[in-house]
Amino acid sequence: MRCPECQHSDTKVMATRLQENAMVIRRRRYCHHCGHRFSTLEACCVPDLVVNKRDGSCEAFAPQKILIALQKTFKKDARSEENIRQLHQQIIKIIYGQEGRPITSQRIGDIVSEQLRQVDPMAYIRFVSVYKDIRTPSDLLSAVQSISQDS
Ligand SMILES: [Zn+2]
Repeated sequence: MRCPECQHSDTKVMATRLQENAMVIRRRRYCHHCGHRFSTLEACCVPDLVVNKRDGSCEAFAPQKILIALQKTFKKDARSEENIRQLHQQIIKIIYGQEGRPITSQRIGDIVSEQLRQVDPMAYIRFVSVYKDIRTPSDLLSAVQSISQDS
């Protein structure tokens, strides 16, 4: 990495630190030529994913929105932040692994609810009642029945 001050190429890494849930690496560097100290960031290149929404519009996929939805869903649970982040990472991985682009917002909702159904039936019910089309008691009943089909 070239020094931003003197453009010299002989710089040395002094410290390396993980940031933001280990998704970003920050390095402190030192230039041997002019003594300038600076930082560099290293992050994974996340592929672009476009989401087709139900109203016909589209937007860039925002993993953060799913994290917020999960945090809301587990608000009243004793589940740890670390636990929620792990579940979030798992869901994001599945979404990026989907074939066929763009992905629909409905498909994303299905993936999230399916993962929740496996880890926590009550969180699943809470999630679908907020984010999916549950308008009548029988909608809710069929959501509950889809849980008992597995067990
Ligand atoms: Zn320099």
